[in-house]
Amino acid sequence: MATVAKPAVPPLIPRIAPREDLNPFRIAQIQFDMAAEFLKLDPGLRQILRTPKRVLEVSIPTKMDNGQVKVLTGFRVQHNISRGPGKGGIRFHPNVTLDEVKALAAWMTWKTATVNVPFGGAKGGVICDPKRMSKSELERMTRRYASEILPIIGPSMDIPAPDVYTDAQTMAWIMDTYAMTVGHSAHGVVTGKPVSIGGSAGRSEATARGLLYVVEEACKLKKISLRGASVAIQGFGNAGATAARLFAEKKAKIIALGDTRGAVTNPRGIDPIKAIRYKERSGTVVGMPGASRFSNDELLTMKCDILIPAALENVITLHNAEAVKARIVAEAANGPTTPHADEILARRGITVLPDILANAGGVTVSYFEWAQDLQGFFWQVQEVNSKLEFVMRRAFNDVHESMRKFHVYPRAAAYILAVGRVADATLVRGLFP
Ligand code: NAD
Repeated sequence: MATVAKPAVPPLIPRIAPREDLNPFRIAQIQFDMAAEFLKLDPGLRQILRTPKRVLEVSIPTKMDNGQVKVLTGFRVQHNISRGPGKGGIRFHPNVTLDEVKALAAWMTWKTATVNVPFGGAKGGVICDPKRMSKSELERMTRRYASEILPIIGPSMDIPAPDVYTDAQTMAWIMDTYAMTVGHSAHGVVTGKPVSIGGSAGRSEATARGLLYVVEEACKLKKISLRGASVAIQGFGNAGATAARLFAEKKAKIIALGDTRGAVTNPRGIDPIKAIRYKERSGTVVGMPGASRFSNDELLTMKCDILIPAALENVITLHNAEAVKARIVAEAANGPTTPHADEILARRGITVLPDILANAGGVTVSYFEWAQDLQGFFWQVQEVNSKLEFVMRRAFNDVHESMRKFHVYPRAAAYILAVGRVADATLVRGLFP
């Protein structure tokens, strides 16, 4: 990415921002508008592509273990399905909002287009606190949520997957609820399932593995050796913990890890396997032997070669972007960097590998899982990983090509590529009726 001459600062972002607008959907629209402007999209087409196709809000009455009923709120948003069925995870978190789910659905549209897999973009969420719920409460809530969104999901309509605080077990409950309701098995209704019920080998580590491939490509261009490179990771769940393990296998040095309770650091390196085991026992990495405690804010601005935000949105903002010292920011999380922070990082020569490219390994292997389910024929993990590697390196090269063509930074380049692909599909299909 270092070869681009005089990249343009992404336009259309208001120059003065006394207070930054952190609404994720408005951020997603700013990012879209920037690409639409480069592509000179017709105003009607812009309107179609910047608005979700369908938004469903549901009430989820759930019986708690103490016998009381709690009515929770959930959403499923389908942003665009021009290139294939809706695809996107389901998030269980107390701070879920409709605008967050709309943003995440839009980012899925651009992500599936960036890696060129035949899906549209969708996302779901339930406002709940899964850490304070028992397994049986979670099961009842998940099944009721699945049943409420059932009219709009299905193997050829919209295919959910795990996201923050949902996992393979959550997908198993959704698949079972769907199958019991429609009266036949339907493995392709969700991805990220346990392998025993039609999940794909390699899916659980696919997001982090895909991230590794694009970071390797960026390191080549920036002439950074991954061996010995220092890596700081915020978020120690599916994406972050697996990234720590895979980067350490490549002999990178994991110098900091963080989760909701705080962060830990050791300049000589943290063993991710020990961190994973410690977190399994204590629920956090904070307090693990051989690493000293510090804060997530310090983690984000520490000196390192590669910073991996792998938790939630809006962690690199106007507030701390000037202080970020990483050479590469690889977005495992969706939406971790605001548009203003993007501008600052770009001006400071920090390469940001944008979420719609960097964390697309998950949806890529979800596509493989769906294809395997539809065929009823399953692949070995080596085949999954080598196909993933091909897709991710190809997507990186496509984005790099777009950077050269439009003289822009990686996020703008990825958006131009993705929005262009979705616009083409929308135009060739035509407007119904
Ligand atoms: P997860 O639930 O497995 O893990 C989330 C992690 O983030 C946990 O370690 C949690 O402690 C930490 N976290 C939450 N809030 C935090 C905070 N305020 N400060 C610091 N840490 C915090 O979720 P995940 O699946 O790993 O998803 C993480 C991010 O990656 C999300 O943005 C998600 O959308 C994105 N993502 C995930 C996948 C996937 O396949 N799982 C794919 C693409 C993108």
